[in-house]
Amino acid sequence: MGEPIDRSQSPFVIQSTFGQLYPDMDDVVFEGTIGDMPHNRRPIGFSIRERGGLIRCPDPKCWGGGFEVDYAASDAMREGLTEKAVQVQCVGHVNSYKGRRAGQPCSYSAEGVIKLKPKAAAPVV
Ligand SMILES: [Zn+2]
Repeated sequence: MGEPIDRSQSPFVIQSTFGQLYPDMDDVVFEGTIGDMPHNRRPIGFSIRERGGLIRCPDPKCWGGGFEVDYAASDAMREGLTEKAVQVQCVGHVNSYKGRRAGQPCSYSAEGVIKLKPKAAAPVV
């Protein structure tokens, strides 16, 4: 695997915890496939609570890549959805010589469904 995108300076990500980003959610998961061609896709189930908002790109030539599923999850949350079909393109580049040249956009994508799992409502006493 190449080096994933550095998001430490991203204003959205700034070391927010899961509970800060999704205060009403028990978990947020992405279920789908990752790949470039239809014959080269593998299934993935990914918990943002457990693993953070970035799925790493499986292409070893990809640099600065990854699938920012937390953005997609935030869109779904703003829209009031509990499930949203998404296609997230890898933000990395291939043939960039470790990020020193522009290279070509990575062709990998993550396609599937973002599932927001709200916390159970507090029981009425
Ligand atoms: Zn990639």
